[in-house]
Amino acid sequence: MNIILFGPPGVGKGTQAKLIADKYNLKHISTGDILRAEIQKNTELGNKIKSILEAGKLVSDDIMIEIIRKTISSDESKNGIILDGFPRTVPQAIALNKLFQELNGKINFVIYLEVDEEQIIKRLENRFSCENCGKIVNTLIDKVVDMICPSCGGRLIKRDDDQPATILNRMKVYRDSTEPVKNYYQQQNLLFFVDGSGSVNEVFEQIDKILGT
Ligand code: AMP
Repeated sequence: MNIILFGPPGVGKGTQAKLIADKYNLKHISTGDILRAEIQKNTELGNKIKSILEAGKLVSDDIMIEIIRKTISSDESKNGIILDGFPRTVPQAIALNKLFQELNGKINFVIYLEVDEEQIIKRLENRFSCENCGKIVNTLIDKVVDMICPSCGGRLIKRDDDQPATILNRMKVYRDSTEPVKNYYQQQNLLFFVDGSGSVNEVFEQIDKILGT
């Protein structure tokens, strides 16, 4: 089974993707995580894209498609994948279709998570992630003491691009470049709408029902 988790930044894609990957034994591919790891390791690619991520802009389609090509073709992806953060443009979506054709695979579900913009901005402003285990927490909802991860005790940190000005820019980039991808998949009858405004478990139950059909 191959799934795309789609929707604006901060809608809960990362959190839900981890739950789905665990339950259905899929490889979770977060392009944002892959790029942040390159930056942290100071690779050539990392240095090239650092300022792009900090500004909340999109990395070029060529770079992104090459990353996805490598990841999807790897052995770890054989059981199926859940894509979180890709595709973000129509050319990326077209390239992904071609890639699946080459690999004799297909996309089974595109799950579109919906939350209104005001709530998304609030979520992003209060979002932190654990430096150690990667858990994503929202300080408005989760019980957090002294910025310590409630799961593993690691340090909670704020992403560089979760600052108010950058958040607004990321929303604009989403509207301009990423939203058209929704129509692309709707035309292929692959798009399933999920209300992402409830609790993590409520949202997961809705997704689980769709995947189980
Ligand atoms: P995310 O963690 O998914 O919010 O991604 C963080 C940042 O990584 C985005 O704001 C972009 O700068 C970059 N990025 C991630 N995925 C893509 C993609 N598919 N295309 C272009 N840029 C991306």
